[in-house]
Amino acid sequence: MTQESGKRNIRLKNQNVEYFRRISPRSRSVRITISLEGDMSVSASPSVNENRIEKFLAEKADWILRAIAKVKNRNVVVIKAPKGGLIRYGKETRALVLTRIAYFNSFHRFIYKNICIKNQKSRWGSCSKKGNLNFNYKIIFLPTHLSDYIIVHELCHLKELNHSPRFWSLVETILPDYRSLRSELYKTHIRFVRPLLKPGIFDFSGLSL
Ligand SMILES: [Zn+2]
Repeated sequence: MTQESGKRNIRLKNQNVEYFRRISPRSRSVRITISLEGDMSVSASPSVNENRIEKFLAEKADWILRAIAKVKNRNVVVIKAPKGGLIRYGKETRALVLTRIAYFNSFHRFIYKNICIKNQKSRWGSCSKKGNLNFNYKIIFLPTHLSDYIIVHELCHLKELNHSPRFWSLVETILPDYRSLRSELYKTHIRFVRPLLKPGIFDFSGLSL
């Protein structure tokens, strides 16, 4: 029997768990992945039969159920964003940052040097000792209240380059609800997706006027 990738179900400790079985010819081991949304996928080479996979999943049941519960309890918000990167969205992000800084600076006087839009893996933004502000271009995909929080956070570092109580009370004067914004941002993740429509080749030869 040839094996195919697709959805499967398994009963683990009285719980029904759906997973996506991925056939990966070059895979040497059985690999279990739990996505940010709590979806499980299991990849293994076609030589590993379904019974062995199910036995393996049953052995790892505790780990699997714990991992899924953990992800679901984190209440993760996944924002789907188109691919394109810094080159495509850098300008737009810069314009957003400048507009919002001008707005906040109409009440506060933050003095900064340069603004740099970067493609950072693990940071939304940062502030250097010299007064340069860096922002991740991915903030363009966030809802405005969250990108505002990031911008205000970095602006406040211009006056307090730490996370001391003084820093947070400065943030609070601008964004009184910063605590909920901070925890909302903490559970927000951006996932890049392929555009829904691929450019196609259109053949009009069969059409007539
Ligand atoms: Zn900070």
